[in-house]
Amino acid sequence: MASDYYSVLGVSRDATGEEIKRAYRKLARELHPDVNPDPTTQEKFKEVTAAYEVLSDPSKRQMYDLGGDPRGGQAAGFPGGFGFGDIMDAFFNSAGGGRGPRSRVRRGQDALIRLEIDLREAVFGSVRDISVDTAVGCGTCAGSGSAPGTDRITCTMCKGRGEVQTVQRSFLGQVMTARPCPQCGGFGDLVASPCPDCAGDGRVRTRRTLTVKVPAGVDTGTRIQLTGEGEVGPGNGPAGDLYVEIVEKQDPVFERQGDDLHCTVTIPMTAAALGTNITLETLDGPEVIEIKPGTQSGNTRTLRGKGVSHLRASGRGDLNVHVAVATPTKLDGQQQELLRQFASIRGEEEPIGQVARGQSGLFSRIRDAFR
Ligand SMILES: [Zn+2]
Ligand SMILES: [Zn+2]
Repeated sequence: MASDYYSVLGVSRDATGEEIKRAYRKLARELHPDVNPDPTTQEKFKEVTAAYEVLSDPSKRQMYDLGGDPRGGQAAGFPGGFGFGDIMDAFFNSAGGGRGPRSRVRRGQDALIRLEIDLREAVFGSVRDISVDTAVGCGTCAGSGSAPGTDRITCTMCKGRGEVQTVQRSFLGQVMTARPCPQCGGFGDLVASPCPDCAGDGRVRTRRTLTVKVPAGVDTGTRIQLTGEGEVGPGNGPAGDLYVEIVEKQDPVFERQGDDLHCTVTIPMTAAALGTNITLETLDGPEVIEIKPGTQSGNTRTLRGKGVSHLRASGRGDLNVHVAVATPTKLDGQQQELLRQFASIRGEEEPIGQVARGQSGLFSRIRDAFR
């Protein structure tokens, strides 16, 4: 015979019926075969269901507490009579009609909010406070929807059944059809005096502040899931999840391509010819870039591991520094003269230019880098 039913559901020996129901509902959600089809989980699910079958029934529970075996030695599984479908319908609110009143308790909706971050946060991650507007359980009525001190009353139209039946005469004889009760919406009961704070809904909207950990490597469109921080469900049902969708602001200097970053550094023609060192302010602090003598426009320097952190792996992308050489403009007389002398020494007074096929030069290289 199975292990202790109380520990299977994770409740104490003096748990109330409501606590047992809540514990079962939580476990059933996690272990439901539709969610988790692996055999170990299904075994566990059967065990949990067997425990609930006994502990939710006061007479069976009493028998079990006295050391008896109310399941008559059945293997863990679904007993006849008390069908699996009934349990599932009661908790998951399947659409199938004709099973009595439906539960008011339903899971709340997921919520989505957008969070704008800058590139630095995407690279290193950050912790942000966000303010969210969601439905939470009403404290005044504890989610019941009834004013304190009052109770729901049984629906007068359906007498608590949650459905009304109509008889139609057809050539086959009388046909009985059931439909959800229009007065109580199928719940079988009515809120007689609505709670003044939530008007009977059992929920109120409030603004809360939540702290979100933004992991390094996120990008526009990445969603961070905060379990149970969404909308509380009708009837004080379990809350949905909150999704925080990242929107990354464009950085004025670095362009992001996947986890790599690109920037362009423009240097004077003379520095490109003679070589120099320039200091680039990267996200990791100042970085000295060596410009070798004879550097051409379109040359690229790659700083490994100075890009964006990989979200699902260790390490970081690269920072690619593209060099652009600026041709001097607005030359004065002396500068023109010096450049003419320079050209003359190099035999470049009447250059013919080098012609190459297609666009294998500078522009296509830059374009490729950004593709
Ligand atoms: Zn209320
Ligand atoms: Zn009704």
